[in-house]
Amino acid sequence: MSTKESVAIDIRDVSRIYGYGEYQVTALGGVFLQIRENEFFTLLGPSGCGKTTLLRLIAGFDFPTNGEILLHGEDIAPLPPFKRPVNTVFQSYALFPHMTVAENIAFGLQMLGRPKEETKARVDEMLELVHMTQMRDRQVSQISGGQQQRVALARALAPKPKVLLLDEPLSALDYKLRKEMQIELKRVQAETGITFIFVTHDQEEALTMSDRIAVMSNGEVRQVGTAREIYDRPADRFVADFIGESNFLEGSIKARNTTTATVGLAAGAEIEATLPEGGAPDGKVTVVIRPEHASLGKPGTGRFDGVLEEAIYFGTDTHFHVRLDSGEAFIVREQNVRSGGEEHQKGDRVAVQLGRDAAQILRA
Ligand code: ATP
Repeated sequence: MSTKESVAIDIRDVSRIYGYGEYQVTALGGVFLQIRENEFFTLLGPSGCGKTTLLRLIAGFDFPTNGEILLHGEDIAPLPPFKRPVNTVFQSYALFPHMTVAENIAFGLQMLGRPKEETKARVDEMLELVHMTQMRDRQVSQISGGQQQRVALARALAPKPKVLLLDEPLSALDYKLRKEMQIELKRVQAETGITFIFVTHDQEEALTMSDRIAVMSNGEVRQVGTAREIYDRPADRFVADFIGESNFLEGSIKARNTTTATVGLAAGAEIEATLPEGGAPDGKVTVVIRPEHASLGKPGTGRFDGVLEEAIYFGTDTHFHVRLDSGEAFIVREQNVRSGGEEHQKGDRVAVQLGRDAAQILRA
Protein backbone atom coordinates (compact mmCIF):
# COMPACT_ATOMS: atom_id res chain seq x y z
CA MET A 1 0.00 0.00 0.00
CA SER A 2 1.91 3.01 -1.20
CA THR A 3 -0.27 6.05 -0.47
CA LYS A 4 -2.19 7.06 2.61
CA GLU A 5 -5.19 7.96 0.38
CA SER A 6 -5.71 4.37 -0.70
CA VAL A 7 -6.43 3.26 2.89
CA ALA A 8 -10.11 3.56 3.81
CA ILE A 9 -9.95 2.10 7.33
CA ASP A 10 -6.77 1.91 9.34
CA ILE A 11 -7.05 -0.22 12.46
CA ARG A 12 -4.10 0.42 14.73
CA ASP A 13 -3.36 -1.89 17.62
CA VAL A 14 -7.04 -2.18 18.55
CA SER A 15 -8.05 -4.23 21.59
CA ARG A 16 -11.44 -4.81 23.14
CA ILE A 17 -11.56 -6.40 26.54
CA TYR A 18 -14.91 -7.18 28.14
CA GLY A 19 -15.48 -7.72 31.85
CA TYR A 20 -13.04 -7.78 34.75
CA GLY A 21 -10.98 -10.25 36.71
CA GLU A 22 -11.91 -13.88 36.16
CA TYR A 23 -14.75 -12.83 33.84
CA GLN A 24 -12.40 -10.91 31.54
CA VAL A 25 -12.68 -11.77 27.83
CA THR A 26 -10.22 -10.46 25.25
CA ALA A 27 -12.52 -10.19 22.23
CA LEU A 28 -9.76 -8.43 20.25
CA GLY A 29 -6.11 -8.34 21.21
CA GLY A 30 -3.98 -5.74 19.44
CA VAL A 31 -5.34 -5.94 15.89
CA PHE A 32 -3.62 -4.10 13.03
CA LEU A 33 -5.45 -3.99 9.68
CA GLN A 34 -5.51 -1.68 6.70
CA ILE A 35 -8.59 -1.91 4.52
CA ARG A 36 -8.23 -0.22 1.15
CA GLU A 37 -10.64 2.03 -0.63
CA ASN A 38 -13.04 0.25 -3.02
CA GLU A 39 -12.09 -3.08 -1.59
CA PHE A 40 -14.31 -6.08 -0.89
CA PHE A 41 -12.66 -7.03 2.37
CA THR A 42 -13.73 -10.03 4.44
CA LEU A 43 -13.25 -10.85 8.11
CA LEU A 44 -13.28 -14.64 8.26
CA GLY A 45 -13.07 -16.81 11.33
CA PRO A 46 -14.89 -19.26 13.58
CA SER A 47 -17.61 -18.22 16.00
CA GLY A 48 -16.29 -16.06 18.82
CA CYS A 49 -13.07 -14.97 17.07
CA GLY A 50 -13.95 -11.27 17.32
CA LYS A 51 -15.36 -10.45 13.85
CA THR A 52 -18.56 -8.80 15.05
CA THR A 53 -16.70 -6.93 17.78
CA LEU A 54 -14.39 -5.39 15.18
CA LEU A 55 -17.36 -4.42 12.99
CA ARG A 56 -19.12 -2.82 15.96
CA LEU A 57 -16.04 -0.76 16.77
CA ILE A 58 -15.85 0.52 13.19
CA ALA A 59 -19.58 1.32 13.23
CA GLY A 60 -19.27 3.12 16.57
CA PHE A 61 -21.71 0.86 18.48
CA ASP A 62 -18.85 0.05 20.85
CA PHE A 63 -15.44 1.51 21.74
CA PRO A 64 -11.94 0.00 21.79
CA THR A 65 -10.22 -0.58 25.13
CA ASN A 66 -6.99 0.37 23.34
CA GLY A 67 -5.81 1.57 19.95
CA GLU A 68 -7.38 3.74 17.30
CA ILE A 69 -9.42 3.46 14.12
CA LEU A 70 -8.81 5.95 11.34
CA LEU A 71 -11.15 6.58 8.44
CA HIS A 72 -9.29 8.19 5.55
CA GLY A 73 -6.60 9.27 8.02
CA GLU A 74 -9.02 10.77 10.59
CA ASP A 75 -9.55 9.26 14.03
CA ILE A 76 -13.27 8.39 14.18
CA ALA A 77 -13.39 7.82 17.97
CA PRO A 78 -15.18 11.13 18.71
CA LEU A 79 -17.92 10.47 16.11
CA PRO A 80 -21.18 8.79 17.21
CA PRO A 81 -22.47 6.06 14.88
CA PHE A 82 -24.90 8.29 12.95
CA LYS A 83 -22.13 10.81 12.18
CA ARG A 84 -19.78 8.18 10.73
CA PRO A 85 -19.85 7.74 6.95
CA VAL A 86 -20.36 4.05 7.63
CA ASN A 87 -23.51 1.96 7.40
CA THR A 88 -24.33 -1.61 8.41
CA VAL A 89 -26.35 -4.44 6.89
CA PHE A 90 -27.34 -6.75 9.72
CA GLN A 91 -27.87 -10.50 9.61
CA SER A 92 -31.48 -9.99 10.67
CA TYR A 93 -31.99 -7.18 8.03
CA ALA A 94 -33.80 -5.07 10.70
CA LEU A 95 -36.40 -3.82 8.18
CA PHE A 96 -39.75 -2.27 9.16
CA PRO A 97 -42.32 -4.94 8.20
CA HIS A 98 -45.32 -2.57 8.07
CA MET A 99 -43.60 -0.22 5.60
CA THR A 100 -43.25 -0.69 1.86
CA VAL A 101 -39.99 -1.49 0.14
CA ALA A 102 -39.58 2.13 -1.00
CA GLU A 103 -40.46 3.52 2.46
CA ASN A 104 -37.82 1.30 4.06
CA ILE A 105 -35.16 2.55 1.66
CA ALA A 106 -36.22 6.18 2.19
CA PHE A 107 -36.28 5.92 5.98
CA GLY A 108 -32.60 6.63 6.68
CA LEU A 109 -32.54 9.54 4.24
CA GLN A 110 -35.59 11.09 5.90
CA MET A 111 -33.93 10.73 9.32
CA LEU A 112 -30.93 12.58 7.94
CA GLY A 113 -33.29 15.37 6.81
CA ARG A 114 -32.51 15.04 3.13
CA PRO A 115 -34.86 17.03 0.82
CA LYS A 116 -37.92 15.16 -0.50
CA GLU A 117 -36.93 15.32 -4.18
CA GLU A 118 -33.42 14.10 -3.47
CA THR A 119 -34.77 11.25 -1.35
CA LYS A 120 -37.20 10.16 -4.08
CA ALA A 121 -34.48 10.18 -6.73
CA ARG A 122 -32.09 8.27 -4.51
CA VAL A 123 -34.75 5.64 -3.66
CA ASP A 124 -35.43 5.13 -7.39
CA GLU A 125 -31.72 4.76 -8.03
CA MET A 126 -31.32 2.23 -5.20
CA LEU A 127 -34.35 0.22 -6.32
CA GLU A 128 -32.79 -0.07 -9.74
CA LEU A 129 -29.40 -1.00 -8.32
CA VAL A 130 -30.84 -3.98 -6.43
CA HIS A 131 -33.38 -4.88 -9.17
CA MET A 132 -36.43 -4.20 -7.00
CA THR A 133 -38.18 -1.38 -8.91
CA GLN A 134 -41.21 -3.60 -9.65
CA MET A 135 -41.73 -4.29 -5.95
CA ARG A 136 -41.39 -0.76 -4.63
CA ASP A 137 -44.93 -0.59 -3.19
CA ARG A 138 -45.02 -4.07 -1.66
CA GLN A 139 -44.95 -4.37 2.10
CA VAL A 140 -41.73 -5.89 3.35
CA SER A 141 -43.70 -8.66 5.10
CA GLN A 142 -44.93 -9.74 1.65
CA ILE A 143 -41.56 -10.31 -0.02
CA SER A 144 -39.12 -13.23 0.15
CA GLY A 145 -35.98 -13.49 2.27
CA GLY A 146 -33.71 -12.82 -0.70
CA GLN A 147 -35.78 -9.77 -1.66
CA GLN A 148 -35.64 -8.50 1.93
CA GLN A 149 -31.88 -8.84 1.76
CA ARG A 150 -31.85 -6.63 -1.34
CA VAL A 151 -33.98 -4.02 0.42
CA ALA A 152 -31.67 -4.04 3.46
CA LEU A 153 -28.72 -3.52 1.12
CA ALA A 154 -30.45 -0.70 -0.74
CA ARG A 155 -31.41 1.00 2.52
CA ALA A 156 -27.85 0.83 3.84
CA LEU A 157 -26.40 2.18 0.58
CA ALA A 158 -28.93 4.98 0.15
CA PRO A 159 -27.10 7.61 2.28
CA LYS A 160 -23.92 6.97 0.20
CA PRO A 161 -21.71 5.65 3.01
CA LYS A 162 -17.98 5.51 2.33
CA VAL A 163 -17.82 2.10 3.99
CA LEU A 164 -20.50 -0.58 4.18
CA LEU A 165 -20.30 -3.16 6.96
CA LEU A 166 -22.05 -6.48 6.31
CA ASP A 167 -22.46 -8.81 9.30
CA GLU A 168 -23.14 -12.31 7.97
CA PRO A 169 -25.86 -10.87 5.72
CA LEU A 170 -26.47 -14.09 3.78
CA SER A 171 -26.62 -16.61 6.60
CA ALA A 172 -30.43 -16.72 6.78
CA LEU A 173 -30.77 -17.62 3.08
CA ASP A 174 -30.89 -21.11 1.62
CA TYR A 175 -27.89 -22.38 -0.34
CA LYS A 176 -29.09 -21.49 -3.84
CA LEU A 177 -30.26 -18.01 -2.89
CA ARG A 178 -27.05 -17.40 -1.03
CA LYS A 179 -25.05 -18.18 -4.17
CA GLU A 180 -27.23 -15.75 -6.14
CA MET A 181 -26.88 -13.02 -3.51
CA GLN A 182 -23.10 -13.50 -3.38
CA ILE A 183 -22.96 -12.57 -7.07
CA GLU A 184 -25.38 -9.67 -6.46
CA LEU A 185 -23.28 -8.27 -3.63
CA LYS A 186 -20.13 -8.44 -5.74
CA ARG A 187 -21.91 -6.65 -8.58
CA VAL A 188 -23.29 -3.92 -6.32
CA GLN A 189 -19.89 -3.38 -4.72
CA ALA A 190 -18.21 -3.09 -8.12
CA GLU A 191 -20.92 -0.72 -9.42
CA THR A 192 -20.90 1.58 -6.40
CA GLY A 193 -17.15 1.45 -5.66
CA ILE A 194 -17.93 1.56 -1.92
CA THR A 195 -15.57 -0.24 0.45
CA PHE A 196 -17.33 -3.37 1.74
CA ILE A 197 -16.28 -5.03 4.98
CA PHE A 198 -17.98 -8.40 5.02
CA VAL A 199 -18.12 -10.76 7.99
CA THR A 200 -18.53 -14.49 7.56
CA HIS A 201 -17.50 -17.80 9.09
CA ASP A 202 -18.04 -19.50 5.71
CA GLN A 203 -14.69 -20.04 4.03
CA GLU A 204 -16.15 -20.71 0.59
CA GLU A 205 -18.10 -17.45 0.72
CA ALA A 206 -14.94 -15.58 1.73
CA LEU A 207 -12.77 -17.18 -0.95
CA THR A 208 -15.19 -16.54 -3.80
CA MET A 209 -16.24 -12.98 -2.95
CA SER A 210 -13.31 -11.11 -1.46
CA ASP A 211 -10.53 -8.98 -2.86
CA ARG A 212 -8.69 -9.68 0.38
CA ILE A 213 -9.44 -11.67 3.51
CA ALA A 214 -8.32 -11.36 7.12
CA VAL A 215 -8.42 -14.74 8.84
CA MET A 216 -9.11 -14.31 12.55
CA SER A 217 -8.87 -16.58 15.57
CA ASN A 218 -9.17 -15.78 19.28
CA GLY A 219 -9.23 -12.03 18.80
CA GLU A 220 -6.16 -12.01 16.54
CA VAL A 221 -5.58 -11.62 12.83
CA ARG A 222 -3.63 -14.69 11.71
CA GLN A 223 -3.18 -13.77 8.04
CA VAL A 224 -4.28 -11.14 5.53
CA GLY A 225 -4.19 -11.78 1.80
CA THR A 226 -6.07 -12.56 -1.38
CA ALA A 227 -8.04 -15.80 -1.52
CA ARG A 228 -5.24 -17.38 -3.53
CA GLU A 229 -2.52 -16.24 -1.13
CA ILE A 230 -4.40 -17.57 1.86
CA TYR A 231 -5.32 -20.85 0.25
CA ASP A 232 -2.00 -21.55 -1.49
CA ARG A 233 0.26 -20.06 1.18
CA PRO A 234 -1.43 -20.46 4.56
CA ALA A 235 0.83 -18.78 7.11
CA ASP A 236 0.19 -21.09 10.00
CA ARG A 237 -1.52 -24.27 11.05
CA PHE A 238 -4.74 -22.55 12.10
CA VAL A 239 -5.21 -20.95 8.65
CA ALA A 240 -4.25 -24.15 6.81
CA ASP A 241 -6.72 -26.12 8.91
CA PHE A 242 -9.58 -23.62 8.84
CA ILE A 243 -9.47 -23.02 5.07
CA GLY A 244 -9.75 -26.04 2.85
CA GLU A 245 -8.36 -29.46 3.67
CA SER A 246 -4.71 -29.99 4.54
CA ASN A 247 -2.17 -32.72 5.15
CA PHE A 248 0.34 -31.90 7.88
CA LEU A 249 3.67 -33.74 7.95
CA GLU A 250 6.40 -33.32 10.55
CA GLY A 251 10.05 -33.01 9.59
CA SER A 252 13.23 -31.03 10.01
CA ILE A 253 15.10 -28.61 7.79
CA LYS A 254 18.23 -30.13 6.20
CA ALA A 255 19.27 -27.25 3.94
CA ARG A 256 17.80 -23.94 2.88
CA ASN A 257 18.13 -21.26 0.23
CA THR A 258 16.22 -17.99 -0.15
CA THR A 259 12.65 -19.16 -0.72
CA THR A 260 12.73 -22.94 -0.28
CA ALA A 261 14.26 -25.54 1.99
CA THR A 262 14.94 -29.25 1.89
CA VAL A 263 12.94 -30.96 4.61
CA GLY A 264 13.63 -34.45 5.88
CA LEU A 265 10.21 -35.85 6.72
CA ALA A 266 9.37 -38.33 9.44
CA ALA A 267 7.61 -40.17 6.59
CA GLY A 268 11.08 -40.97 5.17
CA ALA A 269 11.37 -38.82 2.07
CA GLU A 270 13.20 -35.56 1.59
CA ILE A 271 11.16 -32.86 -0.14
CA GLU A 272 11.61 -29.30 -1.32
CA ALA A 273 9.18 -26.97 0.44
CA THR A 274 8.49 -23.24 0.27
CA LEU A 275 9.59 -21.24 3.28
CA PRO A 276 6.96 -19.04 4.94
CA GLU A 277 7.21 -15.26 4.82
CA GLY A 278 9.63 -14.18 7.50
CA GLY A 279 11.43 -17.54 7.34
CA ALA A 280 11.14 -20.69 9.43
CA PRO A 281 13.05 -21.76 12.49
CA ASP A 282 15.88 -24.26 12.30
CA GLY A 283 15.11 -27.73 13.43
CA LYS A 284 11.63 -29.22 13.54
CA VAL A 285 8.97 -27.87 11.19
CA THR A 286 5.50 -28.74 9.96
CA VAL A 287 4.90 -29.02 6.23
CA VAL A 288 1.45 -28.58 4.72
CA ILE A 289 0.31 -30.18 1.48
CA ARG A 290 -3.15 -29.63 -0.02
CA PRO A 291 -4.88 -32.91 -1.06
CA GLU A 292 -5.36 -31.72 -4.65
CA HIS A 293 -1.63 -31.02 -5.03
CA ALA A 294 -0.93 -34.74 -4.70
CA SER A 295 -1.90 -37.75 -6.78
CA LEU A 296 -1.76 -41.52 -6.49
CA GLY A 297 0.54 -43.84 -8.40
CA LYS A 298 1.96 -47.33 -8.28
CA PRO A 299 4.22 -48.08 -5.27
CA GLY A 300 7.72 -46.68 -5.66
CA THR A 301 6.71 -43.96 -8.16
CA GLY A 302 6.13 -41.15 -5.67
CA ARG A 303 7.46 -39.48 -2.54
CA PHE A 304 6.01 -41.92 -0.05
CA ASP A 305 4.32 -45.29 -0.19
CA GLY A 306 1.35 -46.44 1.83
CA VAL A 307 -1.92 -48.35 1.81
CA LEU A 308 -5.15 -46.98 0.41
CA GLU A 309 -7.59 -47.21 3.32
CA GLU A 310 -10.61 -45.44 1.86
CA ALA A 311 -11.77 -43.94 -1.44
CA ILE A 312 -14.71 -41.54 -1.11
CA TYR A 313 -16.50 -40.53 -4.29
CA PHE A 314 -17.74 -36.90 -4.37
CA GLY A 315 -18.99 -36.73 -7.97
CA THR A 316 -16.54 -34.15 -9.28
CA ASP A 317 -13.63 -35.68 -7.40
CA THR A 318 -12.57 -38.59 -5.23
CA HIS A 319 -10.84 -38.37 -1.86
CA PHE A 320 -8.29 -41.12 -1.20
CA HIS A 321 -7.30 -41.75 2.42
CA VAL A 322 -3.80 -43.22 2.51
CA ARG A 323 -1.99 -44.61 5.56
CA LEU A 324 1.67 -43.86 4.87
CA ASP A 325 4.27 -46.44 5.86
CA SER A 326 5.37 -43.96 8.55
CA GLY A 327 1.92 -44.37 10.13
CA GLU A 328 0.79 -40.82 9.21
CA ALA A 329 -2.53 -40.24 7.46
CA PHE A 330 -2.54 -38.49 4.08
CA ILE A 331 -5.47 -37.45 1.88
CA VAL A 332 -5.17 -37.20 -1.90
CA ARG A 333 -7.91 -35.55 -3.94
CA GLU A 334 -8.17 -36.35 -7.65
CA GLN A 335 -10.63 -34.91 -10.10
CA ASN A 336 -12.84 -37.50 -11.78
CA VAL A 337 -11.88 -36.63 -15.34
CA ARG A 338 -12.03 -40.14 -16.73
CA SER A 339 -15.09 -42.29 -16.94
CA GLY A 340 -14.95 -46.02 -16.33
CA GLY A 341 -13.38 -48.24 -13.69
CA GLU A 342 -11.43 -47.06 -10.68
CA GLU A 343 -7.68 -47.43 -10.90
CA HIS A 344 -7.08 -47.74 -7.17
CA GLN A 345 -8.91 -50.07 -4.85
CA LYS A 346 -9.21 -50.08 -1.09
CA GLY A 347 -6.33 -52.08 0.39
CA ASP A 348 -3.96 -51.44 -2.59
CA ARG A 349 -0.42 -50.36 -1.95
CA VAL A 350 0.01 -46.95 -3.56
CA ALA A 351 2.51 -44.11 -3.89
CA VAL A 352 1.73 -40.49 -3.11
CA GLN A 353 3.13 -38.25 -5.83
CA LEU A 354 3.52 -34.53 -5.22
CA GLY A 355 2.95 -31.78 -7.76
CA ARG A 356 5.51 -29.02 -8.24
CA ASP A 357 5.51 -26.47 -5.44
CA ALA A 358 3.06 -28.62 -3.43
CA ALA A 359 4.73 -28.46 -0.04
CA GLN A 360 4.92 -25.47 2.23
CA ILE A 361 6.60 -25.01 5.57
CA LEU A 362 4.36 -23.39 8.20
CA ARG A 363 5.35 -20.52 10.42
CA ALA A 364 6.25 -21.81 13.87
P1 ATP B 1 -20.01 -15.11 15.78
O1 ATP B 1 -19.57 -15.60 14.45
O2 ATP B 1 -20.51 -16.21 16.67
O3 ATP B 1 -20.92 -13.92 15.73
P2 ATP B 1 -17.71 -13.39 16.33
O4 ATP B 1 -16.45 -13.84 15.68
O5 ATP B 1 -18.45 -12.29 15.67
O6 ATP B 1 -18.65 -14.64 16.57
P3 ATP B 1 -17.69 -11.71 18.67
O7 ATP B 1 -19.18 -11.57 18.75
O8 ATP B 1 -16.92 -10.57 18.18
O9 ATP B 1 -17.32 -13.00 17.83
O10 ATP B 1 -17.17 -12.13 20.11
C1 ATP B 1 -15.79 -12.27 20.45
C2 ATP B 1 -15.65 -12.73 21.88
O11 ATP B 1 -16.05 -11.68 22.76
C3 ATP B 1 -16.49 -13.92 22.25
O12 ATP B 1 -15.75 -14.73 23.13
C4 ATP B 1 -17.70 -13.31 22.94
O13 ATP B 1 -18.26 -14.21 23.86
C5 ATP B 1 -17.10 -12.11 23.61
N1 ATP B 1 -18.04 -10.98 23.75
C6 ATP B 1 -18.66 -10.31 22.77
N2 ATP B 1 -19.45 -9.33 23.22
C7 ATP B 1 -19.33 -9.39 24.59
C8 ATP B 1 -19.90 -8.63 25.68
N3 ATP B 1 -20.74 -7.63 25.45
N4 ATP B 1 -19.55 -8.99 26.93
C9 ATP B 1 -18.68 -10.01 27.17
N5 ATP B 1 -18.12 -10.75 26.20
C10 ATP B 1 -18.43 -10.44 24.92
